[in-house]
Amino acid sequence: MESHDIVIVGGGQMALALGYYLRRAKADFLILDAEHGPGGAWRHGWDSLRLFSPAGYSSLPGWLMPPTQHEGYPTRDDVLDYLTRYEARYELPIRRPVQVQSVERVDDHLELVTDTGRFAARAVVGATGTWSKPHIPDIVGRNVFKGTQIHSAQYVSPDDFAGQTVLVVGGGNSGAQIMAEVAPVARALWVTTQDPLFLPEDVDGRVLFERAVARMKAGPQGTPVGGIGDIVLVPPVKAARERGDLVSVRPFDRMTGTGVIWADGSEMAIDAVIWCTGFRPALDYLGPLDVLEPDGRVLVQAWRSIKEQKLWLAGFGDWTGPGSATLMGAARTARDLALAITKREQHVLNQAMRSC
Ligand code: FAD
Repeated sequence: MESHDIVIVGGGQMALALGYYLRRAKADFLILDAEHGPGGAWRHGWDSLRLFSPAGYSSLPGWLMPPTQHEGYPTRDDVLDYLTRYEARYELPIRRPVQVQSVERVDDHLELVTDTGRFAARAVVGATGTWSKPHIPDIVGRNVFKGTQIHSAQYVSPDDFAGQTVLVVGGGNSGAQIMAEVAPVARALWVTTQDPLFLPEDVDGRVLFERAVARMKAGPQGTPVGGIGDIVLVPPVKAARERGDLVSVRPFDRMTGTGVIWADGSEMAIDAVIWCTGFRPALDYLGPLDVLEPDGRVLVQAWRSIKEQKLWLAGFGDWTGPGSATLMGAARTARDLALAITKREQHVLNQAMRSC
């Protein structure tokens, strides 16, 4: 069986950033990724998806993302191109496509069961992101609705909804970006639980990252530093807001075969719903380790599972490092995690040698 000191599950931006530092530390590691090519979640983003931070602030360690031609905010394809060149530039050891089906404890190590065989590792890092686990809230009648329902994870372009009556549900950046381009071609209504919060025009995703860091430093009792899901006025969203297309209404009560029923009892016929309602950590393969909490997360202390000390987690958002689900945050998380994990590995090695 192929064996490595460290196996990283997932080959998106988080794994690449971590790979950069592990390679510099000359660690023995392998990255297993289910995709057929580089880019992780960005391979599945919709056609017009824009980064909400400029290129210079969306970089992995070692090499800045090249400036983009698109009004400062890189497109999905810019990011894909950058990640593709990044992993080639640093010759990262990535195996694709390999789907990790489960991770098991065997003697003093962990074994990864995959669709291409088993791998052994002394440490496993889960870096599988959230994109492959879209979340849609439980709404009464959702299963009887006969129209189209997609999650933002499956959304491609507004052309699919031209001329239709569409509800775009969700008040985050996905909802705003999708509503901005569906509204001009469809009868679209934006449904959010509260009035969406827009960042001022002169700030962008960098602020969200700074807020995430400030929150972590302040701790749970600290003074609030603003939301980290606030909407960035990337150019298409700014234009839609100026057109008056980004006005939202409060959620409907339930769905019927042909539409929705609002809180005041009125009915509305619709053709489609686009759920922009977020994601959950894609960690089902950890089931056999019995580390998953009811909310789908793993209890961690400094990226390390409290219940399984050979397991580390990265890239899922603030619970695995401030802003670690963003390019900017992944770089910082990777640096600190690589240091922690290689120190730990060295310690385990020293102990093993002493006992020989
Ligand atoms: P991913 O990119 O999801 O990579 C995980 C990889 O693991 C994938 O390749 C997946 O196939 C693989 N995988 C999953 N399960 C398994 C398994 N069992 N076995 C093997 N492989 C597996 N971030 C920014 O920095 N800036 C932005 O402006 C920005 N804008 C965004 C806008 C929107 C609308 C959204 C939704 C997200 C945005 N993000 C942005 C966040 C970013 O897209 C993701 O958070 C990021 O891709 C996470 O990187 P990752 O490496 O942790 O996970």
